[in-house]
Amino acid sequence: MIKAKAIALSRAAAGCAWLAAGIAAADQLPAPDAPPVAIVIHGGAGALAPGRYSPEEEAAFKQSLREALDAGYAVLEKGGAALDAVEAAIVILEDAPHFNAGKGAVFTSEGKNELDASIMDGATLNAGAVAGVTAVKNPIRLARDVMENSEHVMFAGSGAEAFARERGSEMVTPDYFYTERRWRAYEEALERSKEDKDAAAPADFKFGTVGAVALDRNGDLAAGTSTGGMTFKRYGRVGDAPVVGAGTFADNKSCAVSATGHGEYFIRLTIARDICAQVEYGGKTVAEAADDVIHNRLDALGGTGGVVVLGADGEYAMPFNTLGMFRGVRTGATRMIAIYGDDD
Ligand code: ASP
Repeated sequence: MIKAKAIALSRAAAGCAWLAAGIAAADQLPAPDAPPVAIVIHGGAGALAPGRYSPEEEAAFKQSLREALDAGYAVLEKGGAALDAVEAAIVILEDAPHFNAGKGAVFTSEGKNELDASIMDGATLNAGAVAGVTAVKNPIRLARDVMENSEHVMFAGSGAEAFARERGSEMVTPDYFYTERRWRAYEEALERSKEDKDAAAPADFKFGTVGAVALDRNGDLAAGTSTGGMTFKRYGRVGDAPVVGAGTFADNKSCAVSATGHGEYFIRLTIARDICAQVEYGGKTVAEAADDVIHNRLDALGGTGGVVVLGADGEYAMPFNTLGMFRGVRTGATRMIAIYGDDD
């Protein structure tokens, strides 16, 4: 069984076109003698071409991705749960100011931050989600709290915040989420919207949502996603990240998925569930299913973005139809962080 999983992992790696150009750092680590565990993360997809960031900025992005990957992997290596690994990785990315989740989230058309997140347990199909929260430091933790300590799946807005206070979540004042970079993007969008109200979204839109999928020693899968949504979104707009089956899905029978991209398309296509359904009912590999959904279905509608997917057998895939996607993988044999894609 160990061997079968290891083969699945290396096959997936060999089959992924993005590996050819996108790898920025790959270390071969010693193969484990325990059952394989794996974590795959993303930090958003978009118009990411080499030269887009200064070397210092690039290094900061990669450092946060590496920390998130290593924190998640450390949980798994010690025999911890996939859910804990996903949460640990996402909290680090939420706290990092460069990603569009937690601190560093984008601003709505009203100049506020409204955060969405969800998490799903592939062993039980339990899920928790929050939408439009404005004062919760780590929305992924609150989503998990909703899953484990309420009878509901999703809380929105002030109700989500009331639940957070009841549960003793760490609360912050809205200025906590502010970063100069996102404020500048907001101001540019505001200017554009004055000239043409349909042209508010930045032309080189980089989304920046964060997400993780993990497989633990028990063979349990989990997935989580957290975001500030899209720059200049209308107040009250909810994207795919907190929608189970769209931005996040996990089922031990098939796979775990976290998505990033133009959320409206991901909701309409139920992207995360579609990938797992193609694996479960269609007999496709994780790479085939993820490729079909991103490069056929999403393309056909004109949507953009990407996914990280991890199969119950350990196979992983990270397709995207944008220029790049912040991403990383860590298994017993691979540790890789990448930003750019083949199209560069
Ligand atoms: N999917 C997110 C949304 O539409 C945005 C992103 O992935 O960055 O809210």
